[in-house]
Amino acid sequence: DEWAGAVEAIRRLPAEGTILLVCHVNPDGDALGSMLGFGLGLRQLGREPLATFPAPYELVPPFTELPGLELLIDPAEAPAAPDLLICFDAASIGRLGELADRLDTANTSIVLDHHASNARFGDIPLVEPTAAATSVVAESLLSRLGVTLDKAMAECLYVALATDTGSFKFDLTTSAVHELAARLLATGIRPAEISRRLFDSRPFGAMKLYGDVLARASLEPAAAGGAGLVWSYATLEDLVRHDQRRHVLEGLIDAVRVAEEADVTCVLKQVSAQEWSVSLRSKGAVDVARVAVGLGGGGHRLAAGFTGLGTLAEVVDLVRAAL
Ligand code: 5GP
Ligand code: MN
Ligand code: MN
Repeated sequence: DEWAGAVEAIRRLPAEGTILLVCHVNPDGDALGSMLGFGLGLRQLGREPLATFPAPYELVPPFTELPGLELLIDPAEAPAAPDLLICFDAASIGRLGELADRLDTANTSIVLDHHASNARFGDIPLVEPTAAATSVVAESLLSRLGVTLDKAMAECLYVALATDTGSFKFDLTTSAVHELAARLLATGIRPAEISRRLFDSRPFGAMKLYGDVLARASLEPAAAGGAGLVWSYATLEDLVRHDQRRHVLEGLIDAVRVAEEADVTCVLKQVSAQEWSVSLRSKGAVDVARVAVGLGGGGHRLAAGFTGLGTLAEVVDLVRAAL
């Protein structure tokens, strides 16, 4: 099967073979955590993998503290034709940006993912839509390769797991997820410290910015097929006014989606004058992946996103119409 194929592809690789690890653009905790955790595992097997992600190539807090950062290289320096390409947490080829061509130039490609919308690209697609995070797939492959989890690997995989389960709160938080978490914790990692860094630590200015965004949120009870929509937005001017950078907006939607009257939450983050990065969340009744895919994006049933072009009002109208 595909698992055996992936194990074979890694084991058969000659000692001097180049291994390139890639993950999706604007990587989140699952993309970086599963990629770096897996890379550290390959190191234990005597390999020297290189890891990267598409431009903009910048590492932002809280990921600047991840173990395994020494594996990272600028995408401009990524080998043009690696012997083995391993891709993490990317639902589609387009999410690999300028690195997408490596799927063709690499001798062999393995794709680790958990998005239901994944079209199963690559030579060996390991796509598990029931997995809570790509790190679940990564750990399973590491275990089949005979890798023993150490603390550095475990911290990466734990960051990935905690990120995509929203601190073990979301739908796919199964007993298997908790069993994996238990094995990761057994290596001695510090969950309280990691969680605070990931979810509960933000500059004071960012807190004030969140206040502005919450104050201007709108509730539309009739939207989303009667399921209710709560939405808000953050502009570039908001970032300037509070002297903040874009990455502080990562947890914004979690503050907005608490509105109990709404099933669907939408947060629009301005990228440039007429471009918005749109995040969508559902509490169950609405499949927001379908909404996002229809608008050129992707994601999961309960968490998805897309890039919207136009004024704020125009992009919100697109979302209303799709709902
Ligand atoms: P977030 O709202 O946290 O940025 O993204 C939630 C999920 O939606 C991500 O896990 C990702 O799968 C998906 N997603 C977000 N933005 C985009 C996008 O622009 N394109 C695609 N294809 N998926 C996205
Ligand atoms: Mn991701
Ligand atoms: Mn993921």
